[in-house]
Amino acid sequence: RFNAKEIPGAPIDPLYGLVAAYEADKSDKKVDLGVGAYRDENAKPWILPVVQKATEIYNNAKKDHEYLPIAGLPEFNSAAQRLVLGADSVAISEKRVCSFQTISGTGAVYLGGLLVSQFTAQPRPYVYISSPSWPIHDQIFATVGLPVRHYPYFRSDTKTFDLEGMMQSLSSAPKGSIVVLHACAHNPTGVDPTKDEWKKIAAIMKTNDLFPFFDCAYQGFASGYLSEDNFAVRYFVDQGFQLVIAQSFAKNLGLYGQRVGGFHFVAEPGANSQSTTTNVASQLSLLQRSEISSPPIFGAQIASIVLNDPKLFTEWETDLLTMSGRIKKMRKCLKQELDRLQTPGTWDHIVNQIGMFSFTGLNCAQVMVLRERWHVYMAETGRISVAGLNEHNVAYFASAVDDVVR
Ligand code: PLP
Repeated sequence: RFNAKEIPGAPIDPLYGLVAAYEADKSDKKVDLGVGAYRDENAKPWILPVVQKATEIYNNAKKDHEYLPIAGLPEFNSAAQRLVLGADSVAISEKRVCSFQTISGTGAVYLGGLLVSQFTAQPRPYVYISSPSWPIHDQIFATVGLPVRHYPYFRSDTKTFDLEGMMQSLSSAPKGSIVVLHACAHNPTGVDPTKDEWKKIAAIMKTNDLFPFFDCAYQGFASGYLSEDNFAVRYFVDQGFQLVIAQSFAKNLGLYGQRVGGFHFVAEPGANSQSTTTNVASQLSLLQRSEISSPPIFGAQIASIVLNDPKLFTEWETDLLTMSGRIKKMRKCLKQELDRLQTPGTWDHIVNQIGMFSFTGLNCAQVMVLRERWHVYMAETGRISVAGLNEHNVAYFASAVDDVVR
């Protein structure tokens, strides 16, 4: 029987705990490098100008607040699908893709996890997650009852992608295992495979009959270009995989709290691909109905206005370059400051890593000193959100790092 008295307390989420600690800190020097959200040059949240415009258009249209269909806003889903797969994708023209609007990227990963766990027999397939990864991957797949394993991803000695480690792990994974792949701008390391490395990963996954589960939370943040950052997804689709994609618009449209995301299933090409897609869509409808009934309307409308209007889409691309450009500039500034201070160690990885994050190589003890002595808040893993740096605090942060590594 259910007895709440037997429930032990759970630890608080480390990143949300970090936010609370940052907010409680009264120092005017404090720096927030924890939260994975873009900040402008004054460390403030940035509403994308294109999102402001779309919101005006939406408000002027006086839309109602009716329920969306179970799968979400159709024009959002089709545009989100084109964005991640490419408008010219054969999978789309062959009608072997189905798409659901989800509660941002987290909800999409969850829906995909649920789909796999519902439609696989015991013993369920392993879900291979990069080590390290976004910690919620482990949490979600465990919640839906799938066993989790980890594949090496990052070489801490060179601070680069560990292709050999990953390939070795995937070559010994049981057939039918699920492999979670960060489509671009890997969180937390900021290190992505090159195009050639993606091809090698796809080849081993094909040989070993492994199932790609893409998590695409940062399209447009890695290179700054939407059409460049979906290379891996497009390549895997071209190789004829059946696969799924969890997509988030939190970061690239700055719609964090509106929870705008998509889940896409792509069937492998072949005679039954359309009926497979229809069946999967029907089951996803059931899962979605019992979880959220239908997704929220506002954020999806805003995203849809931007995605479906060519002029606004172009403005969005400019906004993305503003964000990715400022982050790149901050990487350079931080590296220059550390060089200037002759901080022990090599810091090339700061500029070589991409996307919102940098895996600095600072250890947990150093992170704690940064927090207590310098009022700098960052994840215990040594990850910083580079977007939290700006021209006012980058030199201060570099001095703090210099202090803790000496
Ligand atoms: N996947 C990865 C790799 C992430 O880093 C995040 C957010 O930090 C998400 C998914 C989900 O984000 P959201 O649910 O806000 O879209």
